[in-house]
Amino acid sequence: MRRKVSIFGATGSVGRNTVSLLEAQGGPEAYEVVALSGASNIALLADQARRLRARIAVTSDAGRLEDLRRALEGSGIEAAAGTPALLDAASEPVDWVMSAIVGAAGLAPGMRAVRNGGVLALANKESLVCAGDLLQAACKAHGTALLPVDSEHSAIFQALRGEAPEAVERIVLTASGGPFRDWDPAEMARATPAQARAHPNWDMGERISIDSATMFNKALEVIEAHVLFGVASASIEVLVHPQSIIHSMVGFRDGSIIAQIGPSDMRGAIGFALNWPERRGLPVERLDFAALARLDFAAADQARFPALRLAREVIAAGGLTGAVFNGAKEAALDAFLAGRIGFLDMARLVEHVLGELATDAAATESYGLDDVLTLDSEARARAGAWVVSRSSC
Ligand code: NDP
Ligand code: MG
Repeated sequence: MRRKVSIFGATGSVGRNTVSLLEAQGGPEAYEVVALSGASNIALLADQARRLRARIAVTSDAGRLEDLRRALEGSGIEAAAGTPALLDAASEPVDWVMSAIVGAAGLAPGMRAVRNGGVLALANKESLVCAGDLLQAACKAHGTALLPVDSEHSAIFQALRGEAPEAVERIVLTASGGPFRDWDPAEMARATPAQARAHPNWDMGERISIDSATMFNKALEVIEAHVLFGVASASIEVLVHPQSIIHSMVGFRDGSIIAQIGPSDMRGAIGFALNWPERRGLPVERLDFAALARLDFAAADQARFPALRLAREVIAAGGLTGAVFNGAKEAALDAFLAGRIGFLDMARLVEHVLGELATDAAATESYGLDDVLTLDSEARARAGAWVVSRSSC
């Protein structure tokens, strides 16, 4: 029987890699593709849906339904658009689902998808940062296996296979350091979006690439590791490793360390989640250690990258602080991309919004998805007000 799969965020960087792996592993002959989602890239979404013979193609943008219908004409594939349609598509039963929408927009579809059981391959780290306990509780209730696709967390997951949780002493989360690893703050203050999106090692979507330059991506990943693996913040170290060959490591109480190593190619982590619990052949480069010659390491600089300090504060505060952090960070990135604030202002803005909302967010003990989404909107509104107040100074 063919395995039923859906991909949310199919037209993005992780989504395209997932589609290419499905094709490499037999395409529609091997997989029954139920739903594929995108937002603005209708031509690619329709092309992917035709190639994989998907049943439903859905764009989150309600205004693009006619474009999608036209692009799918004669294919027999159902076209759908808008948030309710996206949630309906996520409710379709499948065995394996890829959650690769970018940002908090991926949370609600992910929460729907876990109700089906099977495997949730989770690239959308924002879901875990905003509402980790809700997502994990839903996975538990529905018997869904949550597999991290973020390369660091896939590495940790792989290093932890067969190990007792109490044997874990620390997690070493590696970070490339982004394009501004060696820049001084004055240069960083003038950095443009084009410079910030030029990631040295990984070919990723625009938003995560810029989050790597601010190290907000690593900040999200510290929270993601804390939520996924139940390890205390103080036992999660961030280590700059410019070659991005060691994807992360786990240190055990006997002093031994297990690292997961591979090329900087997301198809490794995606393929692992796709084929889990087996390992199948993947079309990724094989490492040549002699050619690589050296691996470098350095401590992460929290003074130049305040996002890392903020992540620790968010973990310490608990409750819904992660939703505030992520919402403010997304709004800060939008403002930077729009040329309204500078590169270093992004962290200032997030810290400001946390200052306004963190106390109430931290005190929220019992909550549902609606509370998370309300707080996300509130964080974005506060961030917007800060940007306006700054530009009118
Ligand atoms: P991209 O920006 O490349 O792709 C995002 C996807 O989400 C696209 O399909 C896009 O559609 C869709 N999308 C955008 N906005 C919305 C919205 N409001 N509602 C619904 N769908 C939307 O992102 P990435 O693939 O880089 O990242 C996806 C997720 O994976 C993120 O959470 C990221 O942090 C995580 N991740 C990514 C890695 C990478 O290598 N890229 C590595 C590790 C984690 P369209 O393009 O059609 O507009
Ligand atoms: Mg990562």
